[in-house]
This record gives sequence, C-alpha cells and structure tokens, in this order.
Amino acid sequence: MENSALEEAFYSAAAILGENAFVEARFRRRAGLGASVRLRNGKIFASVSDGYAAAPRGVLVGLALSLLSRIYRKHISSPYIDEYKEFSSRESVSELHDVLRKRSGRRRKESAKGRTYDLAEMMMRVRSEYAGVLAGISCPSIVWSKSEGSRVLGFHDSAFSQIVISKILDNPRVPEFVVEYVVYHELLHCKHRVRFQRGRSMRRTVHPLEFKNDEKKFRYYAAANAWLSHSRGILA
Ligand SMILES: [Zn+2]
Repeated sequence: MENSALEEAFYSAAAILGENAFVEARFRRRAGLGASVRLRNGKIFASVSDGYAAAPRGVLVGLALSLLSRIYRKHISSPYIDEYKEFSSRESVSELHDVLRKRSGRRRKESAKGRTYDLAEMMMRVRSEYAGVLAGISCPSIVWSKSEGSRVLGFHDSAFSQIVISKILDNPRVPEFVVEYVVYHELLHCKHRVRFQRGRSMRRTVHPLEFKNDEKKFRYYAAANAWLSHSRGILA
C-alpha cells in the first residue's frame, strides 16, 4: 500500500485549500470505507481504510479535500470531491473489498462461468469480433460479481486489471447482446484510460469522445442502450 501516494493526495488537497501543513497519512486495514483525520500542533494525521488503496489519485485527493475542508472549515466544491463521492457510493466498491480479501489470502469463489452466461467465453468472442477496435489492449480477467444488489452493471478495476460484471445480468431474461455490450463497454476502458484535464476546470473524463465513438461500433448499440435504459442500470 502506497502511503506516499496518500500523503501526496493530502498535500495536494491542502494546497487547493490554500493551507500549508505537515501531513502524516496511513492506509489502515478497516472493515468499511472509513477515513479520519485530526489536526494537532499544525500537523495533519490521517488514517484511511485500505479499501481506498487501489483508488485512482483523483479519488484520494477528493477524500483528502473532503476531510480537510471540514477541519479548516472551508466550503469547497471540486470535481475531485465528486469523484471521491462517486467512488465511495458505488456499490462496486464492495467488489474492491472482495479483491482485498482475496489478496489477503482468503480466496473467494468467484467465477466467470455463470448459470446462464460464461463471461470468459463471451469476452473472447467480443474481443475477436471487435478485434479492430480492441487491438493491443491487455487482457483483463473477468468475473461475475458476488451479489445482485448493485445497480452498477459493469466495473473495470484498472488497478487489478479485472472486469466485474453484475450477477444480475446472468439471467436468461437478459438478452445475450446486452451482456456482450456491457463486456464490450468495460473492455473499452482497457483501451481508453481515465484522463484528467489540467487547468481551472480540472475534470475527469471517464468516457471521452473517442470512447463514445468506439462504443457506437457495437453492432446492437441502439438496442442495447434502449434495453439498459429501461432496466435503469448504470455502466461504470
Ligand atoms: Zn464506463
């Protein structure tokens, strides 16, 4: 776990708030996604759940901003805070905990082979059908999520090079092309990495224009989107 990355995030957040302070920040093994910070003698001590250890930098800066703005009593709105909130509210974060659990030795039974669809086989098929679009991407692992409770239908965890697809789609009532589309979408995240635009409007671009253009190359793009909008699922 990179404590230095966490400290860098806190220093950046302090700078954004116009504060200058010594920071000591540590990831700690915690059950949930908790984080706490205290200010003592002008020093900031932060303790952050290791559930954030694999989070992108923007999420860590947002987390730090959110904690420090309370300490310094400064109201601030920032795309970083939005990114942090989005990250923590995503139920897919629970998948991250599964990854952490797995990493700490207790391997969960998670599988690409569902009751209805086999994701490994489907991913191979999608990769070969869209070989032109997906040429050169590194091959992630792909698994069904453990729970069905999520509105997040798909999630690409770049830190672990893993795609997690919501088990809710492993159902004969879900058309195969819809699941293929979700897999295709997540594979596009392996091609188009999340970018940050520097400058005054520092914004995260999860689905840049090139991503959206590639998305439209899916054979049943319109039908899949129509189906998904009715199901009110979220593609992350
Ligand atoms: Zn996406």
